Amino acid sequence: MTSPLARLEVRDPAGVFAARQLGHGLAGLLGLDRQDQVRVATALSEIGRSAVTAGLSAVLTFGVGDAELVLAVTMDGDPPADGIASAGRLMDQVTVEGNVVRMTKRRPPGVRPDRRLVSEQLAAARSQSALDELRRQNQDLITALDDLGRQKDQLVLLNAELQETNQGVMAMYDELSSELEQTNRGVVALYAELDETSERLRAASESKDRFWANVSHELRTPLNSIIGLTRLLAEPDPDGGALDPERLYQVELIRNSGGTLLALVNDLLDVAKAESGQLHTDPAHVDLAALFGRLRGLARPMAQDKPVTVTVDAAGAPATVLTDEVALTGILRNLLSNGIKYTDRGEVRLSVRVSGRRLEIIVADTGIGIPAGLTSHVFEEFYQVPGVRRGGTGLGLPYARRLSRILGGDLTLTSEPGAGTTVVLDLPLQTPRLGTVLLADDDERFRGILRGLLDGRADTVLQAADGSQALAMTKDHPVDLVLADMRMPGLDGGALLARLPPAIPAIIVTSADVPPPPRAAALLRKDELTAERLEFTIRAVIGGPS
Ligand code: ADP
Repeated sequence: MTSPLARLEVRDPAGVFAARQLGHGLAGLLGLDRQDQVRVATALSEIGRSAVTAGLSAVLTFGVGDAELVLAVTMDGDPPADGIASAGRLMDQVTVEGNVVRMTKRRPPGVRPDRRLVSEQLAAARSQSALDELRRQNQDLITALDDLGRQKDQLVLLNAELQETNQGVMAMYDELSSELEQTNRGVVALYAELDETSERLRAASESKDRFWANVSHELRTPLNSIIGLTRLLAEPDPDGGALDPERLYQVELIRNSGGTLLALVNDLLDVAKAESGQLHTDPAHVDLAALFGRLRGLARPMAQDKPVTVTVDAAGAPATVLTDEVALTGILRNLLSNGIKYTDRGEVRLSVRVSGRRLEIIVADTGIGIPAGLTSHVFEEFYQVPGVRRGGTGLGLPYARRLSRILGGDLTLTSEPGAGTTVVLDLPLQTPRLGTVLLADDDERFRGILRGLLDGRADTVLQAADGSQALAMTKDHPVDLVLADMRMPGLDGGALLARLPPAIPAIIVTSADVPPPPRAAALLRKDELTAERLEFTIRAVIGGPS
């Protein structure tokens, strides 16, 4: 709803000034702010000026809507575009219908213009001169400049605030980055310490191995002499002279103690050897029936003095298994002797089960068992269940487990106190078929030999003449196993292994007498290489504990 307020005709520049002044005044009466008053005045004067310049005359009608000031400018021709464009930038809405331009500007609602004041404005506008208008415009300009000045001041203030905020942010950032730097320094120091500690640990473990190996050697020599001498002492001498029974008894005691001590030293030596990776394996197709026969003969006398039956049951066993016979015998003898040692009545039974590609040899007894919670400790070196001393060193089980792992298997123990203990040795029975094997050796002939040995065991055999070539190939192909020479031109075996993705197992095949690099899963000597040895090693590396 629009109600008319005033009307003004514009025909010449004086009319344009009048329109401008009236617009200013009415906008003021309607409660528009100063800037909007100037905007309305300028829009009207622009529309008027464009009409006069184009030789048209215009009639302005002012009206008020509920929330806006409404201006309609009717011309006696097409309203010129430049005036409309200027007005469009100053008013809220400008529409053109035929030769009528309609413009609106929002106003504060509820302000009712006083009729008398409107008439006064109209009269003043009509009677004003160009000089008045100039003064008026100057005043507008001054006000606008004042506004601008105030805005500038505000801007300066804002800038200062912004700068302060920035300084705050910078300070916070500085604080954070110095904190971060400090944390980083801490982490770096921690890592350095960690490296140092693990280096010290490694050195300590090495010197422990060395110590054991040396001490065991040093002890074995005099012990063997002592045992030998006691044997001599106990025997009657060629002249028929013999020790009196009391002395003989004492010498026997010395011999027994010497024997026990030697067994302990031998255990120590075994463990030290296995730990330092020096244990030499000699894989062959071991006849299980024969091996079990020997074990039976070995174990039965151990149970002579108590109501314990020793059963070695070969039913279900494969005829042969590719493994190291000495190591396998060592493990099983150990398990049987433990079973007998910790069983007072009942049975110790060795049996066999084939489970998929694995062979399980089970030693179960009906003995005293191991309290729950302690079963994991029995594989720790020197650990013995408290209160159950029956001789021994606490080295048997850890050594047996180490040997099992060297054979590509593992040892697990379950037990129930008072009911018995079961230990399972799990060994690889078949070699899994390999996808892609990569051979890295500068000796082409030897690569040929390896290729031949892998025939039928691997789908693809890739060949590289040096470490860098090999490394490049692992980037292009999914490789399941690497067999690498130690000495190669350029990138040698050790350097190749250090750069190989950790997921790819690697076996060093070398004629050099060098220790294997730490990353190697196994080491094979070229002069000892046989199909069995290669297969056994691959099994131990690829077909580890299932
Ligand atoms: P040890 O030389 O003392 O027999 P082992 O390393 O072979 O050392 O075993 C560690 C400990 O585990 C033993 O001292 C014993 O307490 C416990 N243990 C091993 N085998 C058995 C078993 N078959 N039954 C009960 N306890 C066992």
